[in-house]
Amino acid sequence: MSSTKPPFPAATILGYPRIGPDRELKRALESYWAGRIDEAELETTARQLRLESYAEVEKRGLSTREAAIPESFSYYDQVLDVTALLGALPDRFAAFARASTLERYFLLARGGRQAPALEMTKWFNTNYHYLVPEIGADTPIFFADDSLVSRFVEVQEAGYHVRPTLVGPLTYLLLAKGTDGFDPLDRLDEVLEVYLQLFERLAALGATWLQLDEPALASDFAVYSTQQITERLAYVYQRLGQAQSRPQLLVTTPYGDAPAALEVLAQTEVEAIHADLVRGAFPDRLDWGTKTLVAGVVDGRNVWRNDLATSLRVLEQVQETCSQVAVATATSLVHVPYDLSVEKWEDQTLDEDLHLWLAFANQKIEEVVALAQALENGPQSIATQLQVSRRAVDRRAEAEGVVRPEVRAQVAAVSSADRTRVPYPVRALAQEERFHLGALPTTTIGSFPQTETIRRARASYRAGKLGERAYREALEAEISSVVELQERIGLDVLVHGEAERNDMVQYFAELLDGFATTRHGWVQSYGSRCTRPSILWGDVRRLGPLTLEWISYAQSRTEKPVKGMLTGPVTILAWSFLREDVAASELADQVALAIREEVADLEAAGIGIIQVDEPALRELLPLRRTDHDDYLQWSVAAFRLATSGVNPETQIHTHLCYSEFGEVITAIDDLDADVTSLEAARSHMEVLPEIVAAGFARGLGPGVWDIHSPAVPSESQLVSLLNEAAAVIPLERLWANPDCGLKTRSYEEVVPALENLVAAAQQIRTTLQN
Ligand code: GLN
Ligand code: ZN
Repeated sequence: MSSTKPPFPAATILGYPRIGPDRELKRALESYWAGRIDEAELETTARQLRLESYAEVEKRGLSTREAAIPESFSYYDQVLDVTALLGALPDRFAAFARASTLERYFLLARGGRQAPALEMTKWFNTNYHYLVPEIGADTPIFFADDSLVSRFVEVQEAGYHVRPTLVGPLTYLLLAKGTDGFDPLDRLDEVLEVYLQLFERLAALGATWLQLDEPALASDFAVYSTQQITERLAYVYQRLGQAQSRPQLLVTTPYGDAPAALEVLAQTEVEAIHADLVRGAFPDRLDWGTKTLVAGVVDGRNVWRNDLATSLRVLEQVQETCSQVAVATATSLVHVPYDLSVEKWEDQTLDEDLHLWLAFANQKIEEVVALAQALENGPQSIATQLQVSRRAVDRRAEAEGVVRPEVRAQVAAVSSADRTRVPYPVRALAQEERFHLGALPTTTIGSFPQTETIRRARASYRAGKLGERAYREALEAEISSVVELQERIGLDVLVHGEAERNDMVQYFAELLDGFATTRHGWVQSYGSRCTRPSILWGDVRRLGPLTLEWISYAQSRTEKPVKGMLTGPVTILAWSFLREDVAASELADQVALAIREEVADLEAAGIGIIQVDEPALRELLPLRRTDHDDYLQWSVAAFRLATSGVNPETQIHTHLCYSEFGEVITAIDDLDADVTSLEAARSHMEVLPEIVAAGFARGLGPGVWDIHSPAVPSESQLVSLLNEAAAVIPLERLWANPDCGLKTRSYEEVVPALENLVAAAQQIRTTLQN
């Protein structure tokens, strides 16, 4: 280590959004993938974006010279970046040895010929998705990629001294999937060697601080005990801490409480330790010695303005046991949009209020800086900021719509009967009599391809360029053609195609009272994909039908049953920024009551099958096992409140995707839906044994077409997956459907794939029933 050790900066953030304030990186990536720009042009755009980010962050008050700015850029995903750093390519990518480093990087993310992409899954309890490393006994591990180093040099040349940032070795391996039952942690030493080489290179270039993110420390894992994890942790940071030549280390523990880990880290030689003090508690009995405690007091996952006075109290308490305290965000800011000031809400009062109540990434940086200043110079040095923050809290208490007594009363009046239907066998019988679906019915998950025409119609309607009538006609034409197509293909249960929806949560949030939506508030979901989470600020109520006209129209075009399509309460919450003054369980019931009203309207209009999607059920599962029961209890209860108001002959479907279901299988069963479709093809039907073991005894549609891949499944592939399912689930309860909605696919893929699906189901029915 160099002899002069610059102290840790007084204020910092753990990471900054990287997709671009105007989604510049998204567009560049997609142009590059489509072959419209070359690698050099993509790199130029990315470099420009990074430099602009540093300039913006500097403008907000983070020092450019003290490593206060994390270098947290990624072309696609920060976990994939470590896979690239380690050269940890699964065998199936060996054929691409001649591809450029960047090409190979994207092949891992998006797949290539004969080489399916790495699996993607949710990053802790967020809606960000990372690419799951695959580590086996023979996976190569060596220093394979110097992007981090060259980015450090690039920024240095531009006059900034940043803090390189990457996922730490322990989290990386804990999140990895072992191939053939291999324990990825068995490769820990080799991984550490690579980190040590990285340290050496960065130290030689003069890097003073390096950030290693260890969010896994705030989680429980199914296969490792806390003790096993803390033992490894001690080993890792003792080794890394004792490195001869390295920058000073900041180890972060975002997303929750990590008491055991903080205790271990405090005994190692790392120079700075971050604790999430928004979702975790401050461990006050630790001896921090000369270490800096990087106190994460500004929420990186939500968009509310910080209550500075409260944060200041926390910081002062921290200061009592720790002499070196820096102020930081609790997590990276990748989970929030760039800048509040570009938003404008049409309702004057709401606009004013939301600007007072909210803070996006840039505003959060200013909060961190203000708090650091108050620590250094006393609260009076930020008197104005404290005042505004106080005003926000006060105003929230009185603004119209924040509390609606009639909504509160309705929620309070909910009884367990409202969450209960008659027993499944009774329903199943009534539904079979009504629909005569027989064995192995075919259906889809809801959305059909969102064509350019539809996107344009929606955009011009919103911009006021297309009138109400013309818009309705455009949508009706689309719905008719989607219905006709499904009839022609021969599907049994049809859908209207969801052409009216930009997004399965935002669409509902725009129509419900209590939510605000944004115009520019994009947040990265995975790779180049972004969503605009809605903001739940007030009590929720339904002002009128949400989907009724589109679904009834679809039903008017066919004799076959059309499945009504709604988003469930848990998913609406999961993909929104939530108010924090009301318990999530109560928010869920408010939304559930609104959805229940829509379900009732659909049923009354003759829609006999209604699907309520809950793809995010697993996502909100708390990181600590002790909190699971409580969460599963209220989330399942909310779904049941939304769906239990119907008659026995109305068939309720639900759909889940994007996760390993293991830990929530019982909860899925408790949803008590008549039919459940699950993503399964992408994870090679792994879910089947779990479902069977859980004794799941209602309708089930394990997806047989991985819609994340552009490949069209052949009839025989579909037959073999359906056979796998039919081997463990009786044909009377089995459904044939894709993994998820089809909105991101093209008709060239959808038509043949669905034709194959119908043919495959037919084949199975004939063979198995004879
Ligand atoms: N019904 C939705 C669709 O088909 C479900 C999307 C999802 O599960 N993410 O698009
Ligand atoms: Zn899905």
